[in-house]
Amino acid sequence: MTARVLVVDDVELNVKLLEAKLAGEYFEVLSAYNGPRALELAHAELPDIILLDVMMPRMDGFEVCHRLKASPRTADIPVVMVTALSDVADRLRGLAAGADDFLTKPVNDIALFARVRSLVRLKRMMEELRLREEVCGRFAGGDIAQGEAADLMAGGILLAEEQEFAGARIAETLAPLAASIVRADSCAAAQQLLDEAIELVIISLSLPDGDALRLLSQWRAHESQRELPVLLMADDGELPRLAKGLDLGANDYLVRPVDRNELLARVRTQIRRKRLQERLRDNYRKSLSLALTDELTGLYNRRYVFAHMQELLARMPAGAIETAVLLFDIDHFKQVNDVHGHPAGDQVLHELAARALRHVRSVDLIGRLGGEEFIIVMPETRLGGAIVVADRLRAAIAHEPFVLRDGGKTLPVTISIGIATAGRGEELDHVLKRADDALYAAKHAGRNRVIAFGDQYAAAAGDSVSIAVAS
Ligand code: GH3
Ligand code: MG
Ligand code: MG
Repeated sequence: MTARVLVVDDVELNVKLLEAKLAGEYFEVLSAYNGPRALELAHAELPDIILLDVMMPRMDGFEVCHRLKASPRTADIPVVMVTALSDVADRLRGLAAGADDFLTKPVNDIALFARVRSLVRLKRMMEELRLREEVCGRFAGGDIAQGEAADLMAGGILLAEEQEFAGARIAETLAPLAASIVRADSCAAAQQLLDEAIELVIISLSLPDGDALRLLSQWRAHESQRELPVLLMADDGELPRLAKGLDLGANDYLVRPVDRNELLARVRTQIRRKRLQERLRDNYRKSLSLALTDELTGLYNRRYVFAHMQELLARMPAGAIETAVLLFDIDHFKQVNDVHGHPAGDQVLHELAARALRHVRSVDLIGRLGGEEFIIVMPETRLGGAIVVADRLRAAIAHEPFVLRDGGKTLPVTISIGIATAGRGEELDHVLKRADDALYAAKHAGRNRVIAFGDQYAAAAGDSVSIAVAS
C-alpha cells in the first residue's frame, strides 16, 4: 500500500528522520515545519495521513489538529500526534482535539508503519463508501440522511482479559459506555461469548489458552465480524506482536497499565467510527434502493429491469424453458388525467402496480418502464402460460373499477398487454421489440386485450379476448 504522508515538526532533524523511514517503505512524504504551513499543505494536498508534532512554537500540535478536524475538507484525514514518551496528559489532550492516534518519540518503526497502514486502510474504506453514497445520492435526487450519529453507546463490549483485578477495573471504567460488558478469561470463552450484541472487543495478547492473534485473523476472515472494532491489550515488551495484530486488522491497542481516560477515549473513538461506518452503509443501501425503484409505485425502475433482464438472458442454462416478457399499458390514460386530474392518475398508477404485484409469482419481476407503461419478466415460463397470467391480470383490472381516494369516485380502467418470450443469450432489444409490437397490435385491435407475438398459442388464451399476431 502506498500513501501520502504529511510530516509536521519544528525540528528539521525529526522531519528528516521520519521522512527517511517512510520513504524507505515507499510512502510519499510531504513536510511542514510549523502549524500554519501544515494547515496550508493539508488543505492543498489532502494527504492520506498527518504525523503531527505536539510541541511547536506559535501554534502547537493540538491547535493544528483542532483546526484540521474543524474543517470539512480535512476532517477525515487521520492525525497521529507525536508526543514525548509517556506523556499521558498530552495524549488525552490530543484525543480531545480529535487526534486518531499517538506515537511516542523516539518513534519506533514497527509502531509507525503499522499505525500508518491501519489508519490509511480505514481512510480508504471511508472514501469508497462516501463516493458510492454520493453517486447513488445523485441518482436518487437527495433525500439521504446526513449528520453525525448521536448514539455513542455501545451495545455490548466483550472484554477478554486473564487478570481478574485489571479486568474488573476496565469493566468498571467502561460501564457508562456500554449496555452490557461481557467478560472472558480465555480465547475459547471469548469465541463462545461473541454474538451479534457485541459491538467492540478488547482482547489481551496474553490469554492463557491460545493465541489472540489467531482469533483475530479468524474474525477478520468472517463476513459478520470483519468490521468488528477490536482493541488489543498488551504489556510494554509486546510491541512486535502488537504491530502484527494491527496488520491483521486490529483497530487499536492499549498498553498496560491501562490509563482510565485513555481507555475511555479510545473506546469512544472506535464506537464513533463504527457508527459512522454503519451510517454510510445504511445510506448507501437506502440510496441504492431509491436509485433502483420507482418512487410512485415502489416497483423496480427501467434501469434496474433492463439490467436484470440482460443478466437473466445471459445466464439462462442450455435447454432452459423460455423467459416470458409482458409489456402492458393503460388504455386511454390521458383521459384519466384530463377528466379527474393528475393526482387521480397517480392513484390509478399506484393501485395498478399493487394489483399487478398480486398476480405474479415471487420469482417474477415487475417494473415501471415510465409513464403508464409496465413490464413483467417471468423466468421459465412458456408463451401459453404467460398468456394465461396476462389475461388474468387484464381481467383483474377491467372487472373491478378503481376507487379514487377523495370522494370515493369509481372509474373503470383497462390495460392492453403484449407478450413475447426469449431464449438463452437473446438480445434484450429484440425481445422488447417483439413484446412492444404485440402491445401495439393489442391497442390497434381495440384495447383491453392480450396479444402474444407469434401465432401458434392463440388457443391457450381460452375465452379471453386475446388473439395472436403472426411474426
Ligand atoms: P393509449 O390507450 O394509446 O395508451 O392512450 P393513452 O392516453 O394511455 O396514451 P398516451 O401515451 O397518449 O398518454 C399517456 C398519458 O400518461 C400522458 C401522460 O400525461 C400520462 N402520464 C405519464 N406518466 C404519468 C404519471 O406519472 N402520473 C400521471 N398522473 N400521469 C402520467
Ligand atoms: Mg517540536
Ligand atoms: Mg396508455
